[in-house]
Parts: sequence; C-alpha cells; structure tokens
Amino acid sequence: MKKKIVYGSFELESNSLTAVLTSRKDFSVSVGRDDTGRNLAYDYMTAHGCEVVHTLHAEAVPGGSVIREDFESILNDLLNAFPEGKIDGVFLRLHGAMDVVGTGSGDLAIAKAVREKIGPDVPFAVSFDLHADVDPRIAKYVNIICGYRTAPHIDIEETHLRAAKLLISCIEHKYLPKPIIVKVPIIADGDSMTTDIYPGNELIGKLLELEEESDMLCLNIFLGNPWVDALCAGGAIVAIPAPGRGAEAEKAACELAAEFWRVRGDFKFRATTAYPDEGIDWALSQPVSPVFLSDSGDNVSGGGSGDNAEVLAKFIERGAKKVLIAGIADAEVIASCRGLNKGDTLECTIGGKLDPASTAVTVSAVFKARGRLHMWPGNVATESVLLGIDGIDVLLSTERIFIRDTVFFDEFGIKPEDYRVIVVKIGYLWPELYDVAKDFMMLLTKGSTCEIMTDCDFHNVPRPIYPLDRDMQWVPEIAKF
Ligand SMILES: [Zn+2]
Repeated sequence: MKKKIVYGSFELESNSLTAVLTSRKDFSVSVGRDDTGRNLAYDYMTAHGCEVVHTLHAEAVPGGSVIREDFESILNDLLNAFPEGKIDGVFLRLHGAMDVVGTGSGDLAIAKAVREKIGPDVPFAVSFDLHADVDPRIAKYVNIICGYRTAPHIDIEETHLRAAKLLISCIEHKYLPKPIIVKVPIIADGDSMTTDIYPGNELIGKLLELEEESDMLCLNIFLGNPWVDALCAGGAIVAIPAPGRGAEAEKAACELAAEFWRVRGDFKFRATTAYPDEGIDWALSQPVSPVFLSDSGDNVSGGGSGDNAEVLAKFIERGAKKVLIAGIADAEVIASCRGLNKGDTLECTIGGKLDPASTAVTVSAVFKARGRLHMWPGNVATESVLLGIDGIDVLLSTERIFIRDTVFFDEFGIKPEDYRVIVVKIGYLWPELYDVAKDFMMLLTKGSTCEIMTDCDFHNVPRPIYPLDRDMQWVPEIAKF
C-alpha cells in the first residue's frame, strides 16, 4: 500500500511596516497542482513509492501583512483540498514570516489548523525561509522544520528535499519528533546577513558540524525577518532531535544560539552604503558604467511598496542623463498611457499611490515603449511601460515587482550599457545584476525596508532585543510554552 503524503504551500514574506496590505488577489493560487516549478521534493517522494496529493499552492511577492479574511479563505481552501481517508504524512512549504492582521503569525495559524485536521499521530513537516520569524508555539503542531541555509537563497529546493526525506523517514519509523526551539533576541539589519561571507558562512559551518556531532535529524538557524514588527520577531535556532537524543539536540541548539549571539555585531553590509544624496552624487561621478544603486528602503523583495519616487526626484533635481529607474509601481500612470504611441508626451504624477509615505513626482514624460513583465516564471504578467523624462528613463509596472535580472530590460529593447546609472528597488544586488554592474552602492533610503534597524518604527518586537537594546545580556534558553 502506497504511503499517502499531502503536499502544499502557502508562502509570503511579510512586511508589517508598510501600509500596503496583502490580499487574496496578490497570491498566485493553484489547487490540485503545483505551478511553481519546484519539483525536487515531489519527484523524490513519488520516486520513493509515495502517493503525493497536491492540495493548494499559493505564493505572493513579498508584501504587507495579509488581510485576515483573505488569509482564512486561502487556508480554508488548503484544508478543503486535503483528501478524505487515511493519510500518512503532510508536507507544507511555508515562509515562516507571514504576518496576518489581527492574527499574528500566519505560519503558526496554518500549522495549528492542519494539526487539528489531521490529528496528533500524522507526521507533519514544513520548510521555512532563512528569514522566518519562528513562533516557538509551532513546536506543538509540527514535527519537522527545515530552513534554507543560504542568503541569497540558492538552496530552496534542496531544503524542500531535506524536509521530504525526513518526513518519509519519520513515517517509516513511526517517529513524531518535537522541535526544540531557542529564540535569539537579534533583529538583523536586513541585508547584512549573507551566508557566503564571515560571519554568516562560519555560522552555517558550525551548524553543519553540530548537526553531525549530535546526530540529530536537522539543525536550523533562522535570522528572522527584520521588517515584521511582532512578538515572534528575531532569530531562532530549531533542532529536530533523533529518537532518544533530545538532550544532545538541546545542547547543540544552545551552542549554536550562543555562537549566533557572539557574532551579532560582526555582520556587515557586503555593499558600500550611503545616504541618498551622497550615493547619487557618487554614482554620477563614476568613470565606469553602468553603476547600480539599490533603493534599499523601498525594497520590493523585502515587502516594500515599490512606489516611492524619491530617488527619481533627486536625479531630476540634478538634471542627470542616461539614468534608468527600474522600476516604480504605478497602475494609474500605466492606464493613462493606453492608446499612446511612441514619442507621445504626457503629464503625470509618478509614485505615492500605494503608500502615503512614498514621494510622488509630477513630470512631463515621453512615452517610449510598453511591455509585459513576469515576476516569476508562470506568474501572470504585469503591464509595464517605459517613459523618458529628459534623459532619465523610468520603468513603471502595474503590480509591485522587483527588477533582478537583465531579462526584464529585454522586453523594452534597452540594455544596461545604455545607462550610466541604474536604480533598482532591492537590497543587495542579485547575482544576475552583479554580472553587469561595473560598480554598486546600496542607498540607505527611508521606507518600510529601512536597513538601519534603530531607524525602524518598532512597537511590538520583544524587548530587550539587539540592536535596539545594545547593552543587553543574554544566555540561550530552550523555549517553553
Ligand atoms: Zn529570505
């Protein structure tokens, strides 16, 4: 008899500091199939003789907290897609930092609802992003938690595979592990925690060492999502013990937590940073091109609204030429471009339509091109236009998107080498853009993805927490509830 595994995903990296909430329409949802192209875990489970039942797969571009009714409607659809009769295991891909208005951790709510549906005896695995804000109460509901171990994330599918393997092993051995969780009171400057340089790389090395030494099923470090202002904010260590090896797993979890704490002050931005005016002047004075700037306070990949035109305004003020702003979310301007031909002019106000805190700028622009951009392969295309403002090109999109690859430029027939400076709404530069950037600087702009934690407007994070309470003392402790 084949083992029946229920499989699904419900993933959002939230940002609770933006005013732009996430609704059901922001999610790409597929029921009974997986359109995300992430097949490694599925292929493994089916190759191991399991019957894998797709329930629902839902993912969205990082964004604001989810409207409660919309979260519940997707969760209900997920639960309703569970098959009737006996099931042997559940595997869900979650982000771990989904904030829901009035609920708090969406991931905790999903885990609780699924456990209530399947009963206490069915092994239940989840995968998390490295930036999960782990609510320790999730240990009451899930048996296996596996997290990415890289930032930028290049081990997403590997992580799914690790979770799937552990799930099958637990089903076969009739073992229901209980995660051991240590919360680590650190909110990390958004883009300073990468794992390919010190101290991130050494922390991951230590994790692998401890995982092997203590013979546990899986050891994880979670950095936390810096822009979720919630009680479950901050880092976490999660250990999944092998049978009878709880004490060793607890010791390893505390040791890794202590190491994370010890190096907390050593994380540095991998890019040069500057406040906007200084960074823009630097970019315009470089002898090489294109120079990339990231508008890190309005980082769409961190949930920023993507509609702040502050940097555009500063380039206009300077009369700069050969600059590309890629891009700004503005559905209204795009609507007013319908029917225009190349070379037509329009008066318009760009930006500030989504988040009241975003800067808007009124300009006289020339319509240059229109196209359709896909945020991810398989996602619905968003209508986009390219406008020219006296030597500055601006790429606008109907939906919030972040430009992370030069393929986005192909749609408009433009090339990076056409520009002196290109501004993108991300944090650290994605590898595909590093390849073409002659130089790069991260602009420390204000906004809901502000990189300087002590400048963020937190009200709900647990205190004391580093770096808000810089002089605090702390020793690791296993979470109890
Ligand atoms: Zn992440």
